[in-house]
Amino acid sequence: MEHRVIPVHLRESYNVLIGGGLLAKSGSLIRVALGDCRLAVVTDRNVAGLYLDGVLTSLREAGYDTCSFVFPAGEQSKRMDTLSNLLEFFAEERLTRTDCVLALGGGVTGDLAGFAAGCYLRGIRYVQLPTTLLAAVDSSIGGKTAVDLPQGKNLAGLFHQPSLVLCDIDCFHTLPAEELSNGAAEAIKTGILEGEPLFSLLETGNVREHIEPIVAQCVRYKANIVGQDETETGPRKLLNLGHTAGHAIEKCSGFSIPHGYAVAIGLAIIARAAETLGAVDEPIAARTESALVRNGLPITTKFSPEALANAALSDKKRTGGQITLVVPRAIGACYFLELPTAQLENFFRAGMEAGK
Ligand code: ADP
Ligand code: ZN
Repeated sequence: MEHRVIPVHLRESYNVLIGGGLLAKSGSLIRVALGDCRLAVVTDRNVAGLYLDGVLTSLREAGYDTCSFVFPAGEQSKRMDTLSNLLEFFAEERLTRTDCVLALGGGVTGDLAGFAAGCYLRGIRYVQLPTTLLAAVDSSIGGKTAVDLPQGKNLAGLFHQPSLVLCDIDCFHTLPAEELSNGAAEAIKTGILEGEPLFSLLETGNVREHIEPIVAQCVRYKANIVGQDETETGPRKLLNLGHTAGHAIEKCSGFSIPHGYAVAIGLAIIARAAETLGAVDEPIAARTESALVRNGLPITTKFSPEALANAALSDKKRTGGQITLVVPRAIGACYFLELPTAQLENFFRAGMEAGK
């Protein structure tokens, strides 16, 4: 089966390949893009059980010398001591400047392995093999890497672009429904930013039915934005749509609400707030809610507007007395709104009372 190729244009450009059966062909695809080197596969225990043997077989068939590092699944592995173990593993394996790391897994694996690749020997190459929908449509592209600190999520990290992203859509068959919904939230976010035809696919169907075109359109949108703004000083900030409230909800829940679910509620709040405050060109709240609900996502929260505003304002994104929000005026048209921090609570309230 053929696959789609979406380029990310940067100083060192790379391709995102999307299609079925890519993991089984990963060895030859990596050889074309990277040539010969040693490959260190990094993956969590769940993904290792499902896909590691297949990937290692393909790599060996393509003539690669490999080693692999498997860590316990879950966000609690995305921290400094795992990073440190991983760096020591690379050193034990005597990886050199020309070798390469393969991040096989979801966002946790990509963030951790990408960070390790970015600082080992001051930076070696890595390839992303996203196996969750969230990683495929969002975190595997654009080179953001990080681990969490006890003081907060993603506090230590760096920008380090992958050399190749292989997005095998067959992997999503083994994803639990909750993980698929988690990724759908980022796809719906992209749909609100980009508009049609992506939004309609998510509004009238759900991600499982249209997985390939949805992933391809999300990747194309993100690749384009990252190509314009690698380090998030300008338009890349649009990708924070729904994330101010979303991060606040994650924080208030002690991170028991998954990222995508929190972003879903954040998208619903911002759409309703924009509509209630009369700042839209067309009705957007009902359409946003229906896309979210159709994909198994929540649209309301039990936390108060005050609690969310307090959590959001202790966030790193605050600058002085203003906070920058991304607000939709139509499906496919969002803008930056500079809001005085004192008004954030009322803004959230406008989007939360309308949801009752
Ligand atoms: P995310 O991608 O949502 O940021 P993780 O990397 O922690 O988060 O992945 C979420 C969970 O899904 C983890 O427990 C991981 O082991 C599991 N997982 C990842 N890919 C697959 C897959 N293709 N099939 C089944 N489970 C998977
Ligand atoms: Zn996100």
